Amino acid sequence: MKSKKPLKQLKLSVPAQETPITNFLTASGTFQDGDLLLNQKGLRLISEEKEARPSDAKEVDLQFSLEDLETIKVIGKGSGGVVQLVRHKWVGKLFALKVIQMNIQETIRKQIVQELKINQGSQCPHVVVCYHSFYHNGVISLVLEYMDCGSLADILKQVKIILEPYLAVVCKQVLKGLVYLHHERHVIHRDIKPSNLLVNHKGEVKITDFGVSAVASSMGQRDTFVGTYNYMSPERIRGNTYDYSSDIWSLGMVVLECAIGHFPYIPSEQEEGWLSFYELLETIVEQPPPSAPPDQFSPEFCSFISSCIQKDPRDRMSSLDLLGHPFIKKFEDKDVDLGILMDSLEPSVDSAR
Ligand code: ATP
Ligand code: MG
Repeated sequence: MKSKKPLKQLKLSVPAQETPITNFLTASGTFQDGDLLLNQKGLRLISEEKEARPSDAKEVDLQFSLEDLETIKVIGKGSGGVVQLVRHKWVGKLFALKVIQMNIQETIRKQIVQELKINQGSQCPHVVVCYHSFYHNGVISLVLEYMDCGSLADILKQVKIILEPYLAVVCKQVLKGLVYLHHERHVIHRDIKPSNLLVNHKGEVKITDFGVSAVASSMGQRDTFVGTYNYMSPERIRGNTYDYSSDIWSLGMVVLECAIGHFPYIPSEQEEGWLSFYELLETIVEQPPPSAPPDQFSPEFCSFISSCIQKDPRDRMSSLDLLGHPFIKKFEDKDVDLGILMDSLEPSVDSAR
């Protein structure tokens, strides 16, 4: 067994606003962005701080070299690359390893490095932890917290719809993640969609992917490109300026899709592809927004959806205010256990993965 020095604990601080940064790839294959260094050995801050992250100090103490991880199986494919279930050879802990091809321009690299900073600096129980990242020969590898029930997209394939009490529990957790990103980190996620909301057997729901897949998909094929744009707010489609409320539109679309069992702009009986890519974008921009049918859903749920899906971003509620919405409050003391729902799904979800 090779003996390696454990990597030092990193504490990354993310600037509240994106700051102008100069970045470059050095001759040694290290990508530098300000005080951040990224190469095949991992991600380092030049000005390392010693303070440990209390929540997951144990994991961060692990040696993280790609040779320390053995592949168990492929668990997902995105437009930018593959996600594998991997096991740490020495301690047996499971992780999700996301591998992204990076044959891309400088500006896109810059965005990805920005994401890595956000990911590794995240300290929120509702944001997927990125334990480590590597950059080698045009490939970025992210060692992520493994979420063993997959994404909301995977779960929807099994259950078709999610009932209001469970949806309230899912929403509350996603909103806590968004409150953290919007109000503490001051970042817009930009790619809230079912495949970026991950669930584990404990019933925990966490947000993943800050820009990497969106950025990667912009250089990928058309069909994955479409997938990313389904949940995009009208102001973003128009190319206007946008803010945190753009994530709230996307959240509303995801929640409505979970409730009615199909993408809100496409009637259930229609085949996928009923709208062309451009027709869909035009519909989102030009037509009145979708809403929850009041004869099928509670007034609280209908109100929640219309608090998110408003074409004028100023009419949408903030993540913080939505946490106090009657739909979320309604089920708070009802002891709804998402973990039990996940347990009941496990065999079918697992076989789908
Ligand atoms: P796109 O690349 O178009 O944004 P995507 O979000 O599905 O699509 P990825 O982010 O690469 O693409 O993820 C692919 C799939 O891998 C997800 O749908 C999910 O099922 C699985 N996955 C991703 N990250 C994890 C994780 N940390 N734990 C468990 N499964 C994961
Ligand atoms: Mg994703």
